[in-house]
Amino acid sequence: MARVEVPLTAESLTEHFLGRECYRRTRYVVVRNGDATALVGVEPTDSDPLFSPAASVEVLALPAETTYLRRPDIDTGVPSQLAKVAVGQHGARAVVVEGRYSHVSFLLDPDPLRVRVCEVVPPHPAKLLDQAQRVLDLADDLPPVVLEPELVEIESLAADAEVVLLPCRGSGIRLGNREAYYLDERPAERDWMLLGCARSRQLHGWFYGRGAPGPDTCPRALAREPGPLLTKCCLLEDRIEIDEDVAVVPWGASLEQVRQALVALARRCDLAWAPA
Ligand SMILES: [Zn+2]
Repeated sequence: MARVEVPLTAESLTEHFLGRECYRRTRYVVVRNGDATALVGVEPTDSDPLFSPAASVEVLALPAETTYLRRPDIDTGVPSQLAKVAVGQHGARAVVVEGRYSHVSFLLDPDPLRVRVCEVVPPHPAKLLDQAQRVLDLADDLPPVVLEPELVEIESLAADAEVVLLPCRGSGIRLGNREAYYLDERPAERDWMLLGCARSRQLHGWFYGRGAPGPDTCPRALAREPGPLLTKCCLLEDRIEIDEDVAVVPWGASLEQVRQALVALARRCDLAWAPA
């Protein structure tokens, strides 16, 4: 951070910083004059001594294309937290955030990795989406990732069925006037529509010796758009699966498994940022 009295133009910033002593590890300077902010890149002549004159200066963003935000709720050391703020700043090339601990960081030309999360709801909040965001909120070793929910209301798949069979007594499913039964209670057989995944269909076959009509509600099967995609599948029990830019976790995925899936997507989509 540098406060200056000179105008924040390319010429005067270059003149101000070129040859000026800079710390051996300094590569970027957020420059402020009053409320105006610019972003400058510098290269010290020699990174061995504590300070050396700036050998080169690159003006990265001028005040007209830079936004400075005070967001004490944002940990600026976590790229995905910065990305959450930056995606709302349309048109700003440099988004500088003064966040938690009064630390300052920025995204220049923010282009976070957008990962769609497909799953069925309820419950609310959508579990995988919520887990993935909680993982990203702590992921200071991952590139900036923004999640884009693709949530499918399970009752929207029930069409006009009057009797439905659900995998279990789910939380908050609105059934209207439908008659509902739950597969995990192994009810007496009826003429129902099964709202379930492939695993539920296998259980139905085991219990009743026949298949059941009804849509496949597995999020992996419901996802419509191309990846990068994070979703879950009823058939995975204890491992995640990575297929190109699709990461699939088990229904009861741990936060660590969700993290592994996000790391795999980041590695596939942006090699420069991904952890080894
Ligand atoms: Zn599945």
